[in-house]
Amino acid sequence: MTRRFSGKQLLVASHNKGKLEEIARLLIAYGVDAISAADMGLPEPAETEDSFVGNARIKAHAAAKATGLPALSDDSGIEVEALDNAPGVYTADWAETSHGRDFVMAMTKTWGLLEASQAPFPRKARFCCTLVLAWPDGHDEVFTGTMEGQVVWPMRGNHGHGYDPIFQPDGFDITFGEMDRWQKNEISHRAYAFRKLVAGCFA
Ligand code: IMP
Repeated sequence: MTRRFSGKQLLVASHNKGKLEEIARLLIAYGVDAISAADMGLPEPAETEDSFVGNARIKAHAAAKATGLPALSDDSGIEVEALDNAPGVYTADWAETSHGRDFVMAMTKTWGLLEASQAPFPRKARFCCTLVLAWPDGHDEVFTGTMEGQVVWPMRGNHGHGYDPIFQPDGFDITFGEMDRWQKNEISHRAYAFRKLVAGCFA
């Protein structure tokens, strides 16, 4: 039996402004006030696990424990089949440089590795999203969503973020980077996970 969210305030265990906006917009319909971890001055815990759910649990439980509020975290990334599902949980790490994140570099690296291994076409990949809602007493609920597609080159589109310009979801001939935010938010891995979260804990 899934535990339902019954409070008014939900802490979003993320320092990512884009994720916070997306989550706040979704939850407003349920009378829930989303507060960001950054606004509460919470530190970002180290993501030391090797799975999306492991890292999402670290973030949600740390925030719930620190504030006494239920906390929601999101851990996501792209898995490329021909690269043994890399970068996976290291998706953001592949973009890390001494002067911030560089996703053009990360996408170039991804395509370069596919070329070097002469991976067959289509170069299948999936975006994964895991959401964890954790309560201060240690209970949690986990929801996942995936979107299957392929990695394409060259990069296309300037919408979205991260690896969006090289990911073409199945059933479409445009990349996530070419979709407007509304269209992407209807079909993305995050949208699927959110629908499950709302059905399980909020509706
Ligand atoms: P996290 O903040 O540790 O979950 O990092 C996830 C990383 O995966 C982000 O920095 C993005 O690079 C990538 N990612 C996750 N979801 C998406 C998406 O919808 N589009 C593009 N990149 C994404």
